[in-house]
Amino acid sequence: MPALTINAERLWESLMTMAQIGATPKGGVCRLALTDEDREARDLFVQWGKDAGCAVDIDQIGNIFLRRAGSEPDLPPVMTGSHLDSQPTGGKFDGVYGVLAGLEVIRTLNDHGYVTRHPIDVAARTNEEGSRFAPAMVASGVFAGEFSLDYGLSRTALNGVTLGQELDRIGYAGERPCGGQAVHRYIEAHIEQGPLLEAEACVIGVVQGIQGQRWFDCSIQGMESHAGTTPLPHRRDALLGACCMVQAVRDAAVAHAPLGRGTEGQFIVQPNSRNVIPGRVDFSIDLRHPEDGPLITMVEAVREAMYRVCAEMGLSGDMHEIWHQPPTPFDSGCIDAVSRAASALGLASMSIVSGAGHDAKYLAQVCPTGMIFIPCKDGISHNEIEDASKADVAAGCNVLLQVLLDQAGSQR
Ligand SMILES: [Zn+2]
Repeated sequence: MPALTINAERLWESLMTMAQIGATPKGGVCRLALTDEDREARDLFVQWGKDAGCAVDIDQIGNIFLRRAGSEPDLPPVMTGSHLDSQPTGGKFDGVYGVLAGLEVIRTLNDHGYVTRHPIDVAARTNEEGSRFAPAMVASGVFAGEFSLDYGLSRTALNGVTLGQELDRIGYAGERPCGGQAVHRYIEAHIEQGPLLEAEACVIGVVQGIQGQRWFDCSIQGMESHAGTTPLPHRRDALLGACCMVQAVRDAAVAHAPLGRGTEGQFIVQPNSRNVIPGRVDFSIDLRHPEDGPLITMVEAVREAMYRVCAEMGLSGDMHEIWHQPPTPFDSGCIDAVSRAASALGLASMSIVSGAGHDAKYLAQVCPTGMIFIPCKDGISHNEIEDASKADVAAGCNVLLQVLLDQAGSQR
């Protein structure tokens, strides 16, 4: 019997339809968590789920679950999914691919009347990106028991509104308790968001795990003073100190090349006036590495740089860790299942470590977890030009189908 395959056209059309919600002029998507655009995307996903005969459930942090029943209702679900929210200048595939690939698997099983033993759940999780509410993946963190529900609901956007208030506003504060439920397996499909698969001409990335990451809120304080009258030796220029920290973060990553990553993505200068020496800069630091040892060394190097820069320039600095995610290795059984499915389908695959965080990071604390990566054009993501080919999108979904059938126990 030939392997069951998904409907590539239908999956592509669903992706393109979803991409119209929050579409940007440059071909990307702006669908920040819990905005009206996010609500619209959620509504469409829920409607599609109902059309596919799924039961729909929403938990207290707004995670949406579609369930396709299995033949043994007491068995825990095999779960897949990802997120529908995007970065402000995001693309059409990040997150939404994993959600709609899961839906396409359900539609395909419906088409062919397949019955699985375990139920299959497709989840769309709240605020994965962390752009509007830090930290990222907060709702999967609550689901996994890493954060309390109160912590998740009290995350606050720059305009002062909380995640909980926005959930209420858009009507997605559900009643189901968040987490505390058995999950048999979690398998998430996602674009790679990096250049490795494309460079190796591989269609499928067999994800071994997720690299560790540590996030810091930092500030450097100096003294505001007149740009014309303050001699250089008298200046306490907070921006100059912050710029030295940009270099220090870069140096820490370079010292652990090629796997180390260091980024200062946010910079808020006060008073931000062209003829006033900056008195204060608030900025973020994001450090990542697949192994804990090097990551700790990078953090130490950056902390030391902060002390040194501030001491040398008469500044005071603060570096406050707001998030620490150790590296997450995935389950060997799930890794094998992805690898087997790719070879059974004749798809070129390779082992890969995820450079980005994903919902799978927290799910791995709850149940055996794996991920499937597909290439994205030039490795570009978190950008409106993010792109993936229809063939690769279909290939990843076919692998997901095989893995879910494998894990859910198929019977015809
Ligand atoms: Zn994502």
